[in-house]
Amino acid sequence: MKVKILRRLSPVTEPYWEEFLYDGTMDNSVAGLLDYLNYNDDIVDINGNKTTRIGWECSCLQGMCGGCAMVVNDIPCLACETFLKDIKGDVITIRPLRKFPVIHDLVVDRSVIHKNLTKSDIFIEEYRLSDEDDHAHQYSVAKCLKCGLCLEVCPNYVNGDSFFGALYANDCYLVSVRNRDKKKVISRMYNEHFGKDCSKSLSCMDICPVKIQTLTSISKMNRQ
Ligand code: SF4
Repeated sequence: MKVKILRRLSPVTEPYWEEFLYDGTMDNSVAGLLDYLNYNDDIVDINGNKTTRIGWECSCLQGMCGGCAMVVNDIPCLACETFLKDIKGDVITIRPLRKFPVIHDLVVDRSVIHKNLTKSDIFIEEYRLSDEDDHAHQYSVAKCLKCGLCLEVCPNYVNGDSFFGALYANDCYLVSVRNRDKKKVISRMYNEHFGKDCSKSLSCMDICPVKIQTLTSISKMNRQ
């Protein structure tokens, strides 16, 4: 299988495509393929020329950390949950998420996600019982990986300067039902950084690896 990877050695160098030959098992995931290509001391491209180790990140390799979010054959996904046997054809293209600055190859800087949550005060200050009885939805929202895939497919999210995306809307809901005294300020921040600009494409729900029903959070926040 031919593997084409969009590489970039540092944030200040130009990106370029590099090709590799993968001759391992098709039972592997894309994460497994990257590990395989990086395994030997001497990393070579498809023509046998020496090259550098491919940069990518992961922590759990089981769909729980969100670190390996990337774009495979034009589809944003988690590399650990994308399996080679499900990929059509014998060429695979891999590139980093497009809405975040690239640090190295497939590693991107997603710190804007946490910066936006912090500066809007969207975090649970004190654990309190929720005043809503939709615990299944709250549990689902709490599983957000902050992987950024919902931002990648969102037609309204650009770079996190003003519109903060689906993960923000979900966290607004989760925090507002736990910390009631923050409700007013959260409702204002929600409208400012999500509600007024969301065009409801809902592509965020299709792509979310943990299947968070963002539309439910939106309707609950709108009611608030
Ligand atoms: S809402 Fe889903 S897609 Fe978006 S960051 Fe959370 S887990 Fe990832």
